[in-house]
Amino acid sequence: MNFDLSQEHQMIRKTMKEFADKVVAPGAIERDRTKAFPKEIFKQLADMGMMGVPFSEEYGGAGSDTISFAIVTEELSRACGSTGITYSAHISLGGAPLNLFGTEEQKHKYLAPICSGESFGAFGLTEPNAGSDAGGTQTRAVEDGDDFIINGSKVYITNASYAKHLAITAITGMKDGKKEISAIIVPTDAEGFTVIDNYEKMGLNASNTTELVLENVRVPKANLLGKRGEGFQQFLITLDGGRIGIGAMAVGIAQAAFDKALRYSKERQQFGKPLAHFQITQFKLADMAMKIELARTMVHKAAWLKDQGQPFTKEASMCKLYASEIAMQVADQAVQIHGGYGYMKEYEVERYMRDAKLLEIGEGTSEIQRMVIARQIGC
Ligand SMILES: Cc1cc2nc3c(=O)[nH]c(=O)nc-3n(C[C@H](O)[C@H](O)[C@H](O)COP(=O)(O)OP(=O)(O)OC[C@H]3O[C@@H](n4cnc5c(N)ncnc54)[C@H](O)[C@@H]3O)c2cc1C
Repeated sequence: MNFDLSQEHQMIRKTMKEFADKVVAPGAIERDRTKAFPKEIFKQLADMGMMGVPFSEEYGGAGSDTISFAIVTEELSRACGSTGITYSAHISLGGAPLNLFGTEEQKHKYLAPICSGESFGAFGLTEPNAGSDAGGTQTRAVEDGDDFIINGSKVYITNASYAKHLAITAITGMKDGKKEISAIIVPTDAEGFTVIDNYEKMGLNASNTTELVLENVRVPKANLLGKRGEGFQQFLITLDGGRIGIGAMAVGIAQAAFDKALRYSKERQQFGKPLAHFQITQFKLADMAMKIELARTMVHKAAWLKDQGQPFTKEASMCKLYASEIAMQVADQAVQIHGGYGYMKEYEVERYMRDAKLLEIGEGTSEIQRMVIARQIGC
């Protein structure tokens, strides 16, 4: 067993750490305030070849792996959660299903522009009445000659304003009295397709979260992603990979909160000495450091299993659940260590707390992760 990162992974860590500190972190407070999407940052990431990290070079990807994806996501999230979620969704929700289930033609047509950064990646699963119970999908795709005509709506979809196309789930018929759910690739400029970007969120303010309305949207049947009726299974597989991204985001945000808390505890003096000299502060920081270490190790284990082609559903759920919960705890403690200053936006730790909360909700809530793990351990 070897816990060292490979040379390639170390290089990616170094490159992304420098980029995150120099380019991503400086504008994070302002973007959180103005809700400005970090488009310029993503242009630079595209130039660096980071937009298709785990995908094959044949489609313009970097031909790297899930561990590299986790490292990039962690470093971006450490500097700015909004940039982190944009990247994570782009790869693991947008690119991954095309890579896993697309035909060669679909990969060249739809995955290649995601790898080059020409299009952002997005995935439309959640609906007003179908969240945790995603099988409750109501969006319908009805056959009409060589086309599907799609009607329905999706909520909380990341990146759709900047995507040229995205896969959505829809009911394509009934089989044995059950809904037949399929995934269909829809161009966002299709007639009848509307992307609405006006949510007021708690955090991740510079990320793009949208509502999609589909009114008689006509797409060719050739846009079916994978086999008809396998949309439900496909999104379960997609979400397994996505959870590694959320875990990596959580580690990045927790690391940022810890770094700020450690630095502040050495600077701030009360009762004639730095906070870091009080044992209670030391114990808080020790617990924070331990939790981050455990979470990162679990994220890397899940990513490694995926890269080895081994089952990783349980580990992906565990890393997502654990990392997101400790990110909230660590961010909360970082605010506490900063006292009143921690409550002020300037010190950034309150943003980490707001951003981290989404990680306990998106891509399967903590309750759903516990259900997945319980199933996996044979309950
Ligand atoms: C910022 C943001 C970005 C997102 N991005 C995307 C995206 O790109 N694509 C996409 O498709 N979706 C996206 N989502 C949607 C997200 O995945 C859902 O919000 C999430 O899965 C929860 O669904 P819900 O909001 O409908 O909550 P609900 O399913 O209504 O859950 C409400 C509460 O009930 C609990 N609950 C539900 N069922 C059970 C049960 N059986 N047992 C116990 N407790 C239960 C939940 O854990 C939760 O606490 C995003 C959401 C947000 C906020």
